[in-house]
Amino acid sequence: MCSKCKTIAIGNDATKCPNCGEPFSDYQTMKVDLKLRELELKKQDSGESFKEIEKRLEFTASEMGKIQKKIDNIDNILENQKNLKSRHDILERELNRLKHTALP
Ligand SMILES: [Zn+2]
Repeated sequence: MCSKCKTIAIGNDATKCPNCGEPFSDYQTMKVDLKLRELELKKQDSGESFKEIEKRLEFTASEMGKIQKKIDNIDNILENQKNLKSRHDILERELNRLKHTALP
């Protein structure tokens, strides 16, 4: 940053202020350079974290999908058993009725 007009120079090779032409000291140039590198690293880091989170979310979604399939399967089995049970009950009632009406 320019000590005279406070303009911030972007770029690693800024040796003088792009606004007023005031020469930068090595220290000023170094500070800008470090700041840029820090921002670059932060950008990379958040990019990586985001990808990692995205991957984990994808994995979780696929696991949830698998679990949902299992639940659907169990629901189907329970539904089938309920149907079998009620068919069995109907047949049993019918059999009892026939036993009592068919016998003299
Ligand atoms: Zn300046």
